[in-house]
Amino acid sequence: MKKPSVMGRCLCGPTSYALSPPYDRIEVCHCIQCRRANGGEFHMVVPVTEQQVGWKSQNRISEYESSSGKFRAFCAGCGAPVYSRRTRRLGQLRLRAGLMPDLPRPSELKQQFGAYPLPWIEPLARTVARPEDEAI
Ligand SMILES: [Zn+2]
Ligand SMILES: [Zn+2]
Repeated sequence: MKKPSVMGRCLCGPTSYALSPPYDRIEVCHCIQCRRANGGEFHMVVPVTEQQVGWKSQNRISEYESSSGKFRAFCAGCGAPVYSRRTRRLGQLRLRAGLMPDLPRPSELKQQFGAYPLPWIEPLARTVARPEDEAI
């Protein structure tokens, strides 16, 4: 049975898409550039081809060249990171997994720049998350 598409949407709404399979792999990066681009300790991406992404709306997307030949795309309305791409890898996008809340558990998880995770990341994984109605 063919897997269904997964919907992705930014925080303010006008950047949205349907991702067609395969989407079995998630990569986590701990490098300082990804931290600064996302404002978080790490980022999670789903590597895909441009053909897999059916844009419903992309006219608010802006791109920023964060290093030579590497472009990071974000929604100009809310600032949400959307994808990155490299000019030397034509046709490939690295979608930000956080925009797809219904993304199923991947069969493959990879980490890079693993020497740089902040020291509290491992203890964080052992804490219990509060339910929504008990927000901090
Ligand atoms: Zn937005
Ligand atoms: Zn990185």
